[in-house]
Amino acid sequence: MARILAVTNQKGGVGKTTTAVNLSACLAEFGQRVLLVDLDPQGNATTGCGIVKREAMPTVYQILIGRATMADSCLSTEFGFDLLPANRELAGAEIDLIDLGQREYRLRDALAGIRGNYDFILMDCPPALNLLTVNGLVAADRVIIPMQCEYYALEGLTDLVATLKKVRAKLNPVLEIEGLLRTMFDARSTLTQQVSRELESHFGEKVYRTIIPRNVRLAEAPSYGKPAIAFDRSSKGAQAYLQLALEILDRHAGKVGAGPVALGAQP
Ligand code: ATP
Ligand code: MG
Repeated sequence: MARILAVTNQKGGVGKTTTAVNLSACLAEFGQRVLLVDLDPQGNATTGCGIVKREAMPTVYQILIGRATMADSCLSTEFGFDLLPANRELAGAEIDLIDLGQREYRLRDALAGIRGNYDFILMDCPPALNLLTVNGLVAADRVIIPMQCEYYALEGLTDLVATLKKVRAKLNPVLEIEGLLRTMFDARSTLTQQVSRELESHFGEKVYRTIIPRNVRLAEAPSYGKPAIAFDRSSKGAQAYLQLALEILDRHAGKVGAGPVALGAQP
């Protein structure tokens, strides 16, 4: 039965999509059956997997409004994992869902039927706390929070934790934080080091030991429609995501015990 993980942070440009695509590819590399769900109308995860987003059809949009089945919509990528694509049509979902019942539960219900086919289902959420993100958080068991270690990061994290608590109280009682991931890390910056230490002291073991460095190959890979391990496997970025996949597999195998973060933990 798949673990369903939402990659989320309402802050834009923190590395959600880079993490969702690369982690999917790296988990697949270690033999895991993975589905990546693109929940963002920007369709960046779709493009990053080499799929032309304007030609992708049906997409997660048709799933949410009940006009397509998962079997018709999930594509096999050339990188060993499946993709449920998205494109700008998804921006209309917010309005289209208003008239539909159970609107926060539509993705959860759609994934229920295929959960047994995968080991991991990862969702790339948009940079907003909208109905699409709520659908992701309701469908998820846990969330992965990528963040840049910069001045406002901890403040944003407090807001996110508060939102997760609300979703947990009203819509999804099992939701937990899976882990916090430091992205675009520049070890030479004193501020980065400071924020990183603060994060560790508030969230302890729940902060992934793996740190994703700022690495130009990670930024270049999507323009070739490839995850970094397929673009430049030896790059520091690709190696870091392989390491992250191993860390997550270890956690799930119960070998390295961090466990989910209690939502009570506040930065
Ligand atoms: P959005 O909120 O718009 O969905 P996001 O959180 O999904 O953004 P990404 O698209 O993954 O963030 O990353 C933002 C930009 O930073 C992209 O151009 C990406 O290629 C680049 N990037 C992400 N991670 C790294 C990294 N570790 N090193 C260098 N560049 C990176
Ligand atoms: Mg994104």
